[in-house]
Amino acid sequence: MPGANCVFSNCGTNRREKYDGVGIFRISQRKSPLYSAWREDVISIIKKYRMDDETFKRQIEACNISICERHYKQDDIEFTSKGRKALVVGALPTINLPARSHQAKLAPARRPLTIVNQNAQNTTARIVIRILRSYVKELRN
Ligand SMILES: [Zn+2]
Repeated sequence: MPGANCVFSNCGTNRREKYDGVGIFRISQRKSPLYSAWREDVISIIKKYRMDDETFKRQIEACNISICERHYKQDDIEFTSKGRKALVVGALPTINLPARSHQAKLAPARRPLTIVNQNAQNTTARIVIRILRSYVKELRN
């Protein structure tokens, strides 16, 4: 099943038994501005780490992109009432990312991986996402 593997090339997490317990999250297909902005943010991060080839374009069109939990901080993952792992709305993959393959020559290795959000624009939806995230965090504390 294409898309069942983690989209990051260095990872290799997939849905086989071997990885039982490692959550794999599919990018949300919801159409609302909030989810669209979230999806765009996630896709722009992925694009920094993999070739923007035909396969990937087709995956984007089909919203058939999965990312495993290894790329999210613990705070970004919550449990549903059924005990399943789910992403907090607006959570972005920020850890265990691969080296930038196709951009390595353009951007020397000095740039730390932590600046992946630098280009995020402050659209209304992104601000809403931030507010929601802090709200969810407060609820949990
Ligand atoms: Zn992964």
